[in-house]
Amino acid sequence: MKYLTKQCKLILAIIQEFGHMTAEEVYTEAVKQMPKIALGTVYRNLNELAQDGRIRKIRVPDGPDRFDKTLSPHEHIICPVCGKVLDLSVPGLDECLRKAVKTDNFDYALSVNARCSACRAAQ
Ligand SMILES: [Zn+2]
Ligand SMILES: [Zn+2]
Repeated sequence: MKYLTKQCKLILAIIQEFGHMTAEEVYTEAVKQMPKIALGTVYRNLNELAQDGRIRKIRVPDGPDRFDKTLSPHEHIICPVCGKVLDLSVPGLDECLRKAVKTDNFDYALSVNARCSACRAAQ
């Protein structure tokens, strides 16, 4: 295990507590505990943690990347109204894709746009 700096540990703890956060959201939380932390430090540490496989980077179309504490394969539902990101499990999707793509060697990111329950209720 690589040595983690104090900033890095804090950022990891924040992701593990809240999940699915943008770098800006992580920064807002981090500043409460470490007032001198810079936004650039937050970005750098998030990317390093994602590269090390401690967190997962989720690409969001038309929005900033999110960082996820859940490393196991899963998809996401993104609410177009409030921007909330929810986990989605599609059993058999991986197998289906593998058959369609005809190789094991591929990567994909699926995000479904659908209103979250709170936004549906507010309609
Ligand atoms: Zn919503
Ligand atoms: Zn997730």
